[in-house]
This record gives sequence, C-alpha cells and structure tokens, in this order.
Amino acid sequence: MIEGYPWLLPVAEQWQQQRQQGRLGHALILQGPAGVGKSLLADWIVSRLLCLEGRGCGHCKGCQLLAAGHHPDRYELAPEGQQIKVDAVRGLISQLAGTAHQGGARVAIIHQAQRLNAASANALLKTLEEPPAGVYLVLVVGPGQPLLPTIVSRCQRLVVPMPSAAAIEQFLGEQGNALASWAYWPRILGGPLAIRHAVEEGKLDQLATLRQGWQRSLNHGLLDPVLSQVDAEQAPTVLKVLYFELLSQCEADPQQTVWCYPMMQKVAQTQRWLDRQTGINLTATFQQLIVEYRRGAQEGA
Ligand SMILES: [Zn+2]
Repeated sequence: MIEGYPWLLPVAEQWQQQRQQGRLGHALILQGPAGVGKSLLADWIVSRLLCLEGRGCGHCKGCQLLAAGHHPDRYELAPEGQQIKVDAVRGLISQLAGTAHQGGARVAIIHQAQRLNAASANALLKTLEEPPAGVYLVLVVGPGQPLLPTIVSRCQRLVVPMPSAAAIEQFLGEQGNALASWAYWPRILGGPLAIRHAVEEGKLDQLATLRQGWQRSLNHGLLDPVLSQVDAEQAPTVLKVLYFELLSQCEADPQQTVWCYPMMQKVAQTQRWLDRQTGINLTATFQQLIVEYRRGAQEGA
C-alpha cells in the first residue's frame, strides 16, 4: 500500500512504534506539504486500525470490507468548496456516537483539515477530547491556514516531510526526464505525487513555458507574449512561477539577493493583493514588476 513510496515508510514506522508502546492517541494529525502522499499514509493507518488482526492482514473481515471499499466503520470527511462546514462535522459526530458494526475500531479521516473553519473546528473539539470508545480520528493537514491551537493540543502529530530531490527523481523514473531543474519544481508543484500528476496532465509544459516567458521578460525588460495572455484564474500560478524563478536566481548568485529579495516580497504582496481584488489589469501589473526588476538589476550591479 505504501511500499512504492519509500519516504512514507519512516513515518509509518514511527506510528507503528507509538502503537506498540501503547502511546497511540485517539486523534492524529498527519501533516505535510502537498503531493507527498499524506492520504496514502492515512489509508495505511486506517487499514491497521480496522484489521481485526491489527496488521493489515488482507484476509480478515475488516480487511476484506476495506478492500471492497465499504467498511461500515470507516468514515470520511472532506471540504465542500473552500471549507469543511459545521453541519458536516456534526453529521460525522452523530455517526460516531453509534456503535461499531464490526465490533472493532471505528476510524474517521478528515481530509484537508486545515479547511475547518472556526465553527466546525469548535464542533469537533469535544470529540477530539473525549472520543467515543474505539474511535480514532485522523486529521490530514496540508498547507494553508494553521489549525486552531485548541485542535492541535488535543492531537498527536506526525509530519510527512518533502522527500529529497534524489528520492523524487527515483520515484518519477523516466517521467522525471522532463524536469530540467530539480530544486525548482517541488517548490512550484509540491511533492512527488503532485509532480507526477502534473507530468501526466501535461501541466509541466505549461509551467515551463511560463517560466521561460518570465526569463525572457526579465532579460529584455518587456512583457513576453506568453504572459500577456494570462487571465485572472491563472494569475496566482504565474506569480508563483516568477517568485520561485527569482529565488532560483538568488540561489545561483547570492549577491543578487540584496535587491532581489525585496522584489520577491513585492511579488508575494502582489499575489495577496490580486486575491482580494477583481478587474485588475494584469498586463500592467506584470510589466510593473519587470520594470522594478530591471531597476534593481541595474542599481545592484
Ligand atoms: Zn486483516
């Protein structure tokens, strides 16, 4: 289940040890960057908790029900749109108040738990503190708003780190051949699963085109045609591409950091500003960033 994802194994081992030592809590936060396989690990943990032999044997009733995709004691909650709504949390809590169908543990996975809003997080607190007997909650937490401290303090926490460039390269195999600059792509896309998805969807080519567009624009001081066709929906990605292009430049030439770092902050500010506004003239906004870059490059040189 997680064998093909070697970077998950140490985290799984950590969980296993906590369990063997009887230190397993009833609420777990599984945290990490996008695209590193947090949900796969959550499924693996669930498979251990719901196996009647406790080890994902593959033969018991629990394992068979899980494999068939309808174990009645496995619950799941995910955001609707941007948030996990309070009604959805209340629904889950009332389901968990019953008894186990299979007489073993019951497990609820809450996906993208960073999208719990204040009301839904508060609704969950009591269950996290005193879960019904045999109930385990796994909160899968990706990048975004931090969880409320009151939630965090009631949970154990395991972190799935971003694997090394070498591990990502090995995982992608031939699919990785398209990636010229290793430091760059995980920053833009996330972990190996997200990169593989982007390769398969052809998204990588689009991003590479945008990056080249920025490189030409910054070199020549004029907005490249590739960037003048960008619409509001693409704008956050386009600015992210610029941000990490600037970071790559700083890393290649640390002296550039003096003027390039403020420039990166400016890009991040622009990104937040675009988030809140509509009807922005993107071409003018991008051109302005290019002008500032050129000014910085000339004064810094
Ligand atoms: Zn089993």
